[in-house]
Amino acid sequence: MTGSDLPTVDTVILGATVLTSTTRPAPGYPDLPQEDKAARGTVTFLADHAIGIANGVISWVVPSASVPAAVLDAARERVDAVGMVAFPGLMNGHTHSPMTMFRGSAEDVSTHDWFSKYIWPMEVNLTDRDVYLGAKLAIGEMLLGGVTAFADHYFATEQIARAVEETGARALLASTFFSSEGAEGIGRSARFAEEWNGAAGGRITTAMGPHATYTVDDADLERTAAHAARLGIRTHIHAAESISQTESSLTKRGVTPVQVLHDTGILATGAIIAHGAGIVESDIEWLSPYADRVGVPVCSKVYMKHAHPTTPVRVLHDAGITVGIGTDGPASHNTLDMFESLRMMSLKQKDAALDATWLTSAHALDLATRQSAATFGLGDVLGAILPGYQADIVLLDPSGPHMQPMHDLAAALVLSARASDVRTVLVAGEVVVRDGKLTRFDVSEAIAELNARIPELTDRTKGTIQNYAP
Ligand SMILES: [Zn+2]
Repeated sequence: MTGSDLPTVDTVILGATVLTSTTRPAPGYPDLPQEDKAARGTVTFLADHAIGIANGVISWVVPSASVPAAVLDAARERVDAVGMVAFPGLMNGHTHSPMTMFRGSAEDVSTHDWFSKYIWPMEVNLTDRDVYLGAKLAIGEMLLGGVTAFADHYFATEQIARAVEETGARALLASTFFSSEGAEGIGRSARFAEEWNGAAGGRITTAMGPHATYTVDDADLERTAAHAARLGIRTHIHAAESISQTESSLTKRGVTPVQVLHDTGILATGAIIAHGAGIVESDIEWLSPYADRVGVPVCSKVYMKHAHPTTPVRVLHDAGITVGIGTDGPASHNTLDMFESLRMMSLKQKDAALDATWLTSAHALDLATRQSAATFGLGDVLGAILPGYQADIVLLDPSGPHMQPMHDLAAALVLSARASDVRTVLVAGEVVVRDGKLTRFDVSEAIAELNARIPELTDRTKGTIQNYAP
């Protein structure tokens, strides 16, 4: 499709170097000869290309010179992208966006104290307004850093949905519940999922949100799977967050957290398994049959910060299990910067495997794009710049001194690029960041109000919502 038969569109991005798509490398590829690059996965960049977008969907990707003047003239929006790199919007596979309000409030503490002494006693103080402002601030940070979609897991989820509607972002929202809440918790999660799935013109999708395998009992997990099957959605849950959680589950119950997900039917209906840092080799038996509907978002900075081993990405990769990338909440990750998360994942995997040839930048970009989209259950509409895919697109300026001279664009995106290099961001074809500025809203109100709320938010004398005892 070139020249005169190119359909007219409402938006044209012109002159970019376009990352169209990636391929997943073959299992066990570090064992292959060094020169067998093809087996390591590929990433395709097209120089000086144009992207046509109609009704929020990518219509064509062609050489810029082949776009007729009539098609350019008919476009309502023309984005000059000469010198820019265009790639699919980054997808934060696991976060708690409103926890921007607790950023930096629980530092240099163990996982136990982080939950039991700080976060859960502080979350007693939450108001709907806090959640709304926290989410709005988070979305501002994410959009400015090229993150177009996020899988969120939190309370007062209607407030997050409102923020998503207003800001133009895309999100997969799950309403968190504990079994300690009784029937109300799971009921609320299911009602939210049913009411909001497909909202905001399709930018909001939903998942069931049981907190974790150690805070939600097996009967509630079975009920969760039944709701997920009824609604045709996935379940987003914390499981095997660390090897000590897996060991504790084996000691107390004789099963791993992943086997619990299997036995309660959660895996069969599709799951986002947050962290999986405690996944062991024997868990592959439970995960493999559901490789087409299970994803594990990895949040490496948090594991390093809380001093525990990282997710066994190589084991998952060799078993064909999808791996995504997340930040976790900003109370533990401090930022919602997916370039940081991508880089830490890439380096931590090499470091943990003591193998510099493992997890190439091309592979890391596959995790950040196609596999992230698959983790959301949206692999056929997101994660690639190809005709028929949603126009969630980032334009990044690679001209900064930290990226030049340019030998290897994939390595530069994974190992050198910064969130502040992002210039323009589109979600569903709408420009939501232009020249480094948000187009629909600003975050100054949220920052001012949340800073004023710090004394009340950090009051830890009013009880707690849980106690950490995995
Ligand atoms: Zn989490």
